Amino acid sequence: MSVATQTHCPYCSLQCGIRLTPQLGGTLELAGREDFPVNRGGLCIKGAHAAELINHPERLTTPLARERRGQPLRPVTWDDALDRVTEAITRAQDVHGRDAVGCFGGGGLTNEKAYQFGKFARVALRTAMIDYNGRFCMSSAAAAANRSFGIDRGLPFPLSDVADAEVVLLVGSNPADTMPPAMQWFAAARDRGARHVVVDPRETSTAKLARRHLRSVPGTDLALANGMLHIAIRDGLVDQAYIAARTTGWDAVRRAVRADWPDRTERITGVSISDMTATVHDLATARTAMILTARGAEQHADGTATATAWINLALALGLPGRGRGSGWATVTGQGNGQGGREHGQKADQLPGYRKLADPADRAFVADVWGVDPDELPRPGVSAYEMLERLGTDGGVRVLLLAASNPVVSAPNAAHVAECFGALDFLVVTDFFLSESARYANVVLPTTQFAEEDGTLTNLEGRVVRRRRAVAPPAGVRTELEIWHELASRLGRGSGSRGEHFPTDPRVVYDELRRASAGGIADYNGITWERLDAGEELFWPCPDEAHPGSPRLFAERFPTPDGRARFVAVTHRSVTERPDKRFPYLLTTGRSRSHYQSGVQTRRNAALVEAEPVAYAELHPRLAGEIGVDDGGAVRLTTRRGSVVVTARYTDGIRPDTVFVPFHWARVNDLTSARLDPTSRMPEFKSCAVAVAAVGARRPVHHPDPRPEELHR
Ligand code: SF4
Repeated sequence: MSVATQTHCPYCSLQCGIRLTPQLGGTLELAGREDFPVNRGGLCIKGAHAAELINHPERLTTPLARERRGQPLRPVTWDDALDRVTEAITRAQDVHGRDAVGCFGGGGLTNEKAYQFGKFARVALRTAMIDYNGRFCMSSAAAAANRSFGIDRGLPFPLSDVADAEVVLLVGSNPADTMPPAMQWFAAARDRGARHVVVDPRETSTAKLARRHLRSVPGTDLALANGMLHIAIRDGLVDQAYIAARTTGWDAVRRAVRADWPDRTERITGVSISDMTATVHDLATARTAMILTARGAEQHADGTATATAWINLALALGLPGRGRGSGWATVTGQGNGQGGREHGQKADQLPGYRKLADPADRAFVADVWGVDPDELPRPGVSAYEMLERLGTDGGVRVLLLAASNPVVSAPNAAHVAECFGALDFLVVTDFFLSESARYANVVLPTTQFAEEDGTLTNLEGRVVRRRRAVAPPAGVRTELEIWHELASRLGRGSGSRGEHFPTDPRVVYDELRRASAGGIADYNGITWERLDAGEELFWPCPDEAHPGSPRLFAERFPTPDGRARFVAVTHRSVTERPDKRFPYLLTTGRSRSHYQSGVQTRRNAALVEAEPVAYAELHPRLAGEIGVDDGGAVRLTTRRGSVVVTARYTDGIRPDTVFVPFHWARVNDLTSARLDPTSRMPEFKSCAVAVAAVGARRPVHHPDPRPEELHR
């Protein structure tokens, strides 16, 4: 009889527990795990069909290489492929210096791989050029949380706390579509009478379930948060005792929102004064309340300031650290977006959230790694800043791309694709031939989730075990094996502590624990043995007797003085505003049936059947004005590019706004690469767009828009 393996879904940050049981014929039966406390058996359509990709006919099972640009990729041996990569790295670094080789990772890599990729860049390649696609996901919230709380953990409390919140304000988050199993906690709260408020330009599935929907103009969430804080101050709702005891910086914030009068905020955001006022009063008068932000608020050129504004409101109302059911949090996106940024894939970070720019942090990690601290490179540049200079003088000439597809997922993607074409050499490790892999000189096939062991860290800071259920196909290797081989070939395979790049994920994890010990993201006490024994462990967990930290901030914040910091931020319209040529606003996001750049989900028959093609959601009024039928072709054009997608009518969206899911190639040709000054997050969520019907149909003119539907 086949033995079931307890593991986790490969996709989003919820990391739902699943059970995989091998079947005759080599397939895997997948079921949700009732014993895992986050999803309690529930799965979304993506997770339910995740095992179907294991034996997919397009699965890469042999290394591929091309002789020169323009020629096709052909199967080669592993030795040949790795020799080519080694030669390209050596040549580029000899001619152009160490930083001519770059690494670009993914938020889906396990903790062990994320850690090892960061170490490979710093120790084997000695390059400063490493970043990852999580930069495009939660970097703004991470920067804001670090600044305000001294720590970046998506949820500083278990997700189940949502069930204890009397009021939840969700800003730019649509879990009912993107992570449906999470909704059981919202439903439990509503059953107890909780009031949920959603801020979103669209009436999403989540908004439909809410008590109140604030249909804001894209890119105005900072103004909304400040306007609501103004109301809280005006109406005497701030928690003065909490502010005095647990925070610093209040006076500057109080002054900063003085001019954010309700009528001005209404004009900017499109949210009525009455809705703002009612929401502030709900939050302030509830016994328990939380504010949750997500990519809708954060993926902006002012994303850090926007997340900060919502944190300011939460602090003014005394929510963080109040106890179960209260606080501020960000609902992170990628499967291991959290762990991926804690252990060294980010340009400025070392394992355990240590800083590359900090001499003490450098010395600590260098000691664990058995290298001289002076050998470690300085901090590098952020993801888009690396991508936009590929192939240029002073830029990266050889790129190692691991489990990421920036040709689809990066902003201004057509330009990024051109930059990929300018590289001297591209190495892609993946299990499908992604759009980015089509530019590769060498493609190295890797294992999938069900074929490997490791750990991931979900949105709550909970560390979970990925377990191998089946053997990988012959010819496939793990990234750990690939980096081990490359480091050996580069003559950097070992140092004073022995082998630098072991291939056993448990050995890598134990080194990660040591490297994170004493850091902000301290995993030292979280062992595979404890996880395998069924313990629920959240970082920080400094030693093996420590129970872990499911809830943060009860006594103090992890800042030098133990207090949270208010940070004054003001609304300055940084996004492209509509004009005569581009009269509408474009916003992007995730759909129910696909995930990220779609490399996996667009190959899954069930998910393709559910959502076969790229589409744009339009208000029927806008659709009528341009003369496009529901289901007809519509061309979207921005200052950067143009795509044709299928029109989908919905009267739940603002008539001045178009929504497109970003899972399909070319959609990110439209989006703006303007970067947040702190987090370097691109402006994914708002830009000006022109909309036109493709093919003949006469425009239908609707009455003038209602005043609240006009651009503010
Ligand atoms: Fe997987 Fe996320 Fe769906 Fe859960 S909600 S099944 S983790 S994609």
